[in-house]
Amino acid sequence: MSKYYNPHRTRNIYNPHSSEPFRLSRGKIDSFVKCARCFYMDRRLGVGQPPGYPFSLNSAVDLLLKKEFDIHRAAGTAHPLMKAYGLDAVPFAHAQIDEWRDAMRRGITYRIAGTSVVVTGGVDDVWKSPNGELIIVDYKATSKDGEVSLDADWQDGYKRQMEIYQWLFRQNGFKVSRTGYFVYCNGDTDARAFDGKLEFDIKLIPYDGDDSWVEGTILAAIECLKSDTLPASGVDCDYCAYRKAAGAVESLKVEDRDSLLEDVVKFIKDKDLISTALLQREFGIGYVRACRLLDKLEEAGLVSPSEGAKPRKVFIKENKTIKKLVN
Ligand code: SF4
Repeated sequence: MSKYYNPHRTRNIYNPHSSEPFRLSRGKIDSFVKCARCFYMDRRLGVGQPPGYPFSLNSAVDLLLKKEFDIHRAAGTAHPLMKAYGLDAVPFAHAQIDEWRDAMRRGITYRIAGTSVVVTGGVDDVWKSPNGELIIVDYKATSKDGEVSLDADWQDGYKRQMEIYQWLFRQNGFKVSRTGYFVYCNGDTDARAFDGKLEFDIKLIPYDGDDSWVEGTILAAIECLKSDTLPASGVDCDYCAYRKAAGAVESLKVEDRDSLLEDVVKFIKDKDLISTALLQREFGIGYVRACRLLDKLEEAGLVSPSEGAKPRKVFIKENKTIKKLVN
């Protein structure tokens, strides 16, 4: 286990009986949108998914962009990118700009009335148009062939991110433009050699945000945290696919398994249905042992749950991983 991951965290856990402020970050709201179950296990029970390793190159691009826009913030001038895109704005100079950009410790915050929950977000940048409206800005860095865009399904999270920031600034009393911008930097790999530098194409992508979903979602997330019931999981994700596959493999391989389990799996692997009676006949075993074997197979996700006397469906033919294991 790495020193960066504690699978049984005791800090940053929501306590429904405490009035101490509980920070709920923009990222955790997004994890609630994706799957209430993992959100609950993380924020209420202290069992979070292992974190990914930090994207240091992306962070370096963010940091340098911040420095670059800060030069124009201090001078009150438009960045050349704004001019190139005909955007009439300047970086917003405000005493709290560094606080709003510090996602880990401070950020832009808003306490939800009647609760202990403080919603937090660390914005990359804020610009201001001549009519006084704030423009929320997010920096993105990547390296891909072709033009960058916001069209992929997985980029919906970027849009939600923008909308939560827009909502947070509005709750803090600012007039916020519906249109936010992504400063999208695309590393150019067409160069002849690396030569110690990576050039980027930089594109300004506008996005018209709609924050109407944000408040209701935050309230739903708070209700979820207050509950003592583990919520259902959302759409299957890669973690869940891994958890199921690992569980199935472990159930088949553990030392204390019924000695017949592997033979039973081989026996049913090409069948569509299996019943207790068929197992009893085939293996000359009693009813109780046949039931236990079927329950074990159900735990491993290989057969459907019991429906009284009805035969159970066998799922092995559809499961390539298990098929490989049993062949
Ligand atoms: S689908 Fe499963 S692993 Fe994925 S987020 Fe939900 S509970 Fe967690």
